[in-house]
Amino acid sequence: SNQTYDANNIFGKILRGEIPSHRVYEDDDTLAFMDVMPQSPGHLLVIPKAPSRNVLDADPAVLSKLMPVVQRLAKVAKEAFDADGVTIMQFNEAPAGQTVFHLHFHIVPRYEGVALRP
Ligand code: 5GP
Repeated sequence: SNQTYDANNIFGKILRGEIPSHRVYEDDDTLAFMDVMPQSPGHLLVIPKAPSRNVLDADPAVLSKLMPVVQRLAKVAKEAFDADGVTIMQFNEAPAGQTVFHLHFHIVPRYEGVALRP
């Protein structure tokens, strides 16, 4: 990749309403929606509306607004899905496991003795 933001990515399309998603939270700066291939029941994604590929190129001011929402939704998801814990994941560039190049945090409810789906 050339490490620049491409608005044609799938989450850009979700933000613009060009493809459907199950939205669970939205404010002026942030959108959260269910992951289409959940690794655990309740797996959701939290993204800023501002364009960045990942944490590496994000404006710190965007991260400052995003992280309290990640925290709140992690607590809500844990409660709503009656989980025992929550894994928060975030990948930067393809070699690190990133497949969609719009900044996102995974919130994955976890259960005692239950492994993540691959
Ligand atoms: P990552 O880039 O952090 O590896 O993961 C991208 C995540 O986006 C994956 O968990 C994948 O299931 C999810 N995903 C990919 N395409 C779509 C889509 O069209 N809609 C939704 N809701 N999630 C998607």
